[in-house]
Amino acid sequence: MQQRRRIVLLFGLGIVLPSLLLGYLAFRGIQNDRALLEKERLEDTRRAGERVTRAVDDALRSAEGALANTVRELAGKPAAELASALEKLAAGNPLIGQAFQLKGFKEVRLPLRKLLYVADGSREAGSSPAAALSSPAEFQVAQRLEFRQKDYLEALAAYRQALKKVNDPRVKGLVLNAIARVQRKSGLLQEAVSTYEEIVRGHGGIIIPGGMPLGPSVVLEISALSRELKDFPKSLQTSLRLYKSLLGRELTLERAEFDFFVERAKTLTEEVLAGQPAGLDVAAYQSKLKTLEAEETEQRNRTERIIAFEEGAGPALEPKLGVGPDETNASFSRLPLDIRKHSYFVSIARPAASPGGASTDSWGFIIDADNLRENVLRPALRNEFPSGEMTWTVKAKDGGIIISSENSPAGPVTSRANFVSNAPDWTLEFYQAPPRLIKTFLLSRRGLYFFVFVLIAGILAFGLVLTIRSVSHELELARMKSDFVSTVSHEFKSPLTSIRQLSEMLQSGRVPSEERRQQYYDVLLEQSERLALLTDNILSLAKIEEGRAEFAFETTDISALLANAVSSFQERVRHEGFDIELNIQGQIPHAAVDRTALSQAITNLLDNAIKYSGDSRKVAVRAAAEEPFVIIAVQDFGVGIKKEDIDRVFERFFRGGDELTRTVKGSGLGLTLVKEIVEAHRGKVLVESEPGKGSVFSIRLPLSQGKRS
Ligand code: ADP
Repeated sequence: MQQRRRIVLLFGLGIVLPSLLLGYLAFRGIQNDRALLEKERLEDTRRAGERVTRAVDDALRSAEGALANTVRELAGKPAAELASALEKLAAGNPLIGQAFQLKGFKEVRLPLRKLLYVADGSREAGSSPAAALSSPAEFQVAQRLEFRQKDYLEALAAYRQALKKVNDPRVKGLVLNAIARVQRKSGLLQEAVSTYEEIVRGHGGIIIPGGMPLGPSVVLEISALSRELKDFPKSLQTSLRLYKSLLGRELTLERAEFDFFVERAKTLTEEVLAGQPAGLDVAAYQSKLKTLEAEETEQRNRTERIIAFEEGAGPALEPKLGVGPDETNASFSRLPLDIRKHSYFVSIARPAASPGGASTDSWGFIIDADNLRENVLRPALRNEFPSGEMTWTVKAKDGGIIISSENSPAGPVTSRANFVSNAPDWTLEFYQAPPRLIKTFLLSRRGLYFFVFVLIAGILAFGLVLTIRSVSHELELARMKSDFVSTVSHEFKSPLTSIRQLSEMLQSGRVPSEERRQQYYDVLLEQSERLALLTDNILSLAKIEEGRAEFAFETTDISALLANAVSSFQERVRHEGFDIELNIQGQIPHAAVDRTALSQAITNLLDNAIKYSGDSRKVAVRAAAEEPFVIIAVQDFGVGIKKEDIDRVFERFFRGGDELTRTVKGSGLGLTLVKEIVEAHRGKVLVESEPGKGSVFSIRLPLSQGKRS
């Protein structure tokens, strides 16, 4: 026990404690690694954010440079040339949404504006040919005939006369228009359509009195007439074509005009479709109309945006550009602008302050934020974070998300980045869940050390357990051996002593009565037999253990052998009052056994039964054939075996409970030998016992080698 404790202590101090210490150090180290890793990743993201914003800056710079170059090269050239150069520039650079010229903060000019319409009253008045109409006298005559006398045939002839006199194509268009009108009034609908078509072909662009271009109204007339003529496909195609051409910005119209024509074209189309004309794919026309309407909404928004910019940019820019120099960019300033619910990012060349304090004109452009987002920002972010491991969002000033990574953002915001000159005024946010402890473990070298270390500690602990077990086993064996030596020497000595004393007494003739002498002879016999048994046991076991034992199997009458062993044992113990009962059930087949060895085993069981009988004086021996075995059982009614001992009684040198060991002599070898002998016969020894009630030891031998008697 002492030794075991010492071993445990030694292991504990030598291995477990340093292990714990090292483990703790490794753990601390890993935590440090984790913090370091975190920091590195933060730094990485910060740098990546910087690269992204730089990419945006670079793209804007290149657009700014291109604009500046174009404007410089074309300084002093005609406006049309500049406009076409700017168009080319915008086509090649998706970030230039709309180039503009700022004239002394008062006026903003867009040389190249793709507007659906212009603000009301802003179109340059086209020269109306109305005045020229008075020139041919025939025209006056025709008008009188048409409106006063309502003589349409005469009027038609007069208009045709007038047409011949006119050379100005614009006036021609107006006369043709009058002809068509009269044709219509006189019911010549088909002819009217033809005349209107002639106008569209040759004179659509002219401005009618009142300033409206002739084309659209003529087209509307064609559509309406076609409907009257029940040519519904033509009516629909004409009105839809008009709608499309209006969206295609083929004419410069003011907002009210545009609205008027669009409204008319749409109503015409809808009215025709509402009539569900037979043989017409109504659904197809309707979907066409829907598409055009969607386009109209989009273009209207864009147009309103530009118009708002045109009208409000000057005053909005003045205070912003007036404030101090912008250090981030030498020549261009980038700013967000809010004009009437519309937001813009503009980049504008800073107006060079003239000596007089008045600023000169300058050029700039509205940054196309959609293209900036999709063509520059998103690719740059994708490029920086291709794996999708990092999650990010780009947020507008109001917190609205502009774009975000494919994987939805996870974890807290770890870093933010703003764009150069705050243009666009968005914020780039990076999210990052802190690295898992276990991941850091796996990644860091210290983690590996830790694992190896844990493994080694585990192996050591396992070794410790094994060592303790085998050491304590050895210790136990040593203890049992030393017990054996003392008990066995005692076992030898006490019978020898009594043999010597009794023999001396007998030899000297000092024993008076014959009866007493007989008694002495019995004791002498018993003691010498006990000695013989002990010696036999020790020798046999030694032989078996050394592998020298040779068993001589002979076909034997088991019943006879048993009867023999019991009766000779009975002789020995009769004087102690023991009664050994032998009960052989039925015929026991002969079996091949080593007679001496088996007798010795039975004798050992009988010896134990006597030794551990306590106050009981009864021992029962039974034999029975239970094919293919023969069972020999020795039962006593003595002290029994404690539960915790029962599995160990067959162990070498094992001696049961302390009290017994003290009172009963023994070597701890008897049952070991029984077991060895029985197993050499391929049999088994079984034990059943209850403390205080006695025990039954049964030998079960196989009959296979024997013959029936
Ligand atoms: P020994 O009898 O010399 O001590 P054995 O090997 O014959 O050695 O028996 C081992 C132990 O088994 C004994 O010390 C005793 O405690 C227990 N034992 C054996 N037979 C009996 C029995 N019939 N009744 C009670 N205990 C027994």
